[in-house]
Amino acid sequence: MKRALNFNAGPAALPQAVLEKAQKEWLNYLDSGMAVMELSHRSAEYEQIHDSADRLLRRLMQIPDDYEVLFLQGGASLQFTMVPMNLLRNDETAYYIMTGSWSEKALSEARKIGSAASLASGKEGMYKNIPSIEASAPDDASYVHLTSNNTIFGTQWQTFPDLFNAPLVADMSSDILSKPINVNQFGLIYAGAQKNLGPSGVTVVIIKKDLLARSDERLPTMLSYQTHAKNRSLYNTPPTLSIYLLSLVLEWVESIGGLPAIEKINSEKAEILYDIIDESNGFYRGHADQGSRSLMNVTFKLETEAATGAFLEQAKEAGFIGLNGHRSIGGCRASLYNAVTIEQVNELAKFMKTFRKNY
Ligand SMILES: *Cc1c(COP(=O)(O)O)cnc(C)c1O
Repeated sequence: MKRALNFNAGPAALPQAVLEKAQKEWLNYLDSGMAVMELSHRSAEYEQIHDSADRLLRRLMQIPDDYEVLFLQGGASLQFTMVPMNLLRNDETAYYIMTGSWSEKALSEARKIGSAASLASGKEGMYKNIPSIEASAPDDASYVHLTSNNTIFGTQWQTFPDLFNAPLVADMSSDILSKPINVNQFGLIYAGAQKNLGPSGVTVVIIKKDLLARSDERLPTMLSYQTHAKNRSLYNTPPTLSIYLLSLVLEWVESIGGLPAIEKINSEKAEILYDIIDESNGFYRGHADQGSRSLMNVTFKLETEAATGAFLEQAKEAGFIGLNGHRSIGGCRASLYNAVTIEQVNELAKFMKTFRKNY
């Protein structure tokens, strides 16, 4: 069966091995006579899936014991609200480093909850680069928030600022599990699953346990991290099917060598496309500055709107999916999440070379 050349930004490609395993277990999960979706979330079979997702994520990301791993719903977008609701106390300010549309949304939601401000911004430069952060956070900082990978503009933090006197909170929706990171640098990490972790429907939150004490008892039950931490993300019915698929994706990542191996493949994939851009004499123009380039989302355009349009049209005819840039900035974007293979990226590189020769 033919698999699509899927460069979607999210939901995105899933590893074929994961889909095949899910298909095999679809009607009859471990001889239960039930599909995973039909299991009680209080059953032993489901408990095992739930624990396996937690255990594998901890092992792959080397999450220390003083962090909770939560499986929530509502997407990364709900975390824009839950983070300030739970962490931001009176007399404090939440500081945001602005690197694109998702940071803007996160800040504007935080402002609905309490005092929140921009600490640094790359907006003037059309978000082509990650601003450098040299000062520590102001004394009243509750936390400092950043977006580790900017899905829309195609920039990514290469190293994280270490100099904060306040916990660092990161939206890692589009690069979690794409390379090893040091979880100890963060107070809280969150990510919607549908880019690198699995299907939509589950959101992973990794939170340092001492931050849980900040959640006020008066918070709505479902919006308090404490509720989910106390109940191992089983306070109410979790998205069981999404968590099952997440556990299969995590098994797959481990089977191919974990995050160091994944990082190596991801770097190779991105390099293939950035080389094509850099060697094209301006035919392809990358959006991100070289030092801020994302390994996950390669954004570029051609010399004119007409050329960009022709490129996208012919790419579509040739079977490439999802190469249109985000509607807010236009141009082209190739998303190279973990499940996209080197072979698929090579196909795209070949197409880009041929298009350039013929146009
Ligand atoms: C996709 C994305 C989001 C939005 O995620 P939802 O799960 O749709 O709410 C937020 N932040 C980043 C960086 C993203 O890539």
